[in-house]
Amino acid sequence: MKNIKDYNLEDLKQELITIQEKPYRAEQIFNWLYKEKVKSIDEMTNLSLELREKLKQNYTMCNFKILKKQESSDGTIKYLFDVLDGNAIETVLMQYHHGKTICVSSQVGCKMGCKFCASTGIQFGRNLSAGEIVEQVLAVEQDIGENISNIVFMGIGEPFDNYENVMKAIKIINNPKGLEIGARHISVSTSGIVPKIYDFANEDLQCTLSISLHATNNKKRSEMMPINNAYPIEELMKACKYYIEKTNKRISFEYALAKENNDNLEDAKALVNLLKGMLCHVNLIPINKIENGKFVKSTNENIIKFRDYLNEHGIVATIRRELGSDIDAACGQLRRKNLKASEQ
Ligand code: SF4
Repeated sequence: MKNIKDYNLEDLKQELITIQEKPYRAEQIFNWLYKEKVKSIDEMTNLSLELREKLKQNYTMCNFKILKKQESSDGTIKYLFDVLDGNAIETVLMQYHHGKTICVSSQVGCKMGCKFCASTGIQFGRNLSAGEIVEQVLAVEQDIGENISNIVFMGIGEPFDNYENVMKAIKIINNPKGLEIGARHISVSTSGIVPKIYDFANEDLQCTLSISLHATNNKKRSEMMPINNAYPIEELMKACKYYIEKTNKRISFEYALAKENNDNLEDAKALVNLLKGMLCHVNLIPINKIENGKFVKSTNENIIKFRDYLNEHGIVATIRRELGSDIDAACGQLRRKNLKASEQ
């Protein structure tokens, strides 16, 4: 059955025509889904009983079940959701002073194989649909009884490897008649699928783009991120420059610091040279040790030195707060040892 949350408003209007219903009903349905946040079609009480029955025959609401919920001492919550086909995914809620942020997954598993990421240890399952991405926001909101103010696409999966569904989800999340979360509060992170960076630049969205950079030369970056073999740094930087020129928006470069790998002064100098003159910000991430991973977290002293060097040389850099590392919810730690809901 089709998931009713897979449609943006315009698509839902078209969809209703296919079941011989008036397109304006789409606005009513959207209102029930994203303003009233109902969990069943039966609750859409301004629709006739006949229409509700027809909707129930044709569409599912795709309400995720919480299989597991882990709470960190810093207030971060990691959810394991049953996505209703036997698979499970993780979503993380983080509490910041500026509001509640959720980190959503875009795929069941990931094909990219970044060496510092726990998702690498699992097999790729499938792409999540737009509705399944949106449902992560709704399910968390329902659990905590509060609205989410920021979304980051940094959970399991490479968002640009599931480009169309991610774009569709962003449009539903951003739509004033949908979840109405401003594009400036939505951030998409990519490991560097270059053609999609060009596409994203041309979308005319105000979302933030984050690039997982992590190294400044092809040898080191390819060792950390196999995607670099397909799209080396030169091509990645060209695409980033195009993005900045086209959108006039700042890119956030993610740089995970691993001890004696990419955290010395030479690396900091190379990073300054690479990013010099670009409208950007560097987010330094103390790498999190993962099971069987070869990278070890840099020392606090080195992380601070690295940040200071960048700031002193004209590159704005901050150190990301480590949220949820005690429950394996921090950056790079998300994964399902078992991605099967039945094995939980
Ligand atoms: S860091 Fe992101 S892109 Fe790389 S393997 Fe992990 S989930 Fe996939």
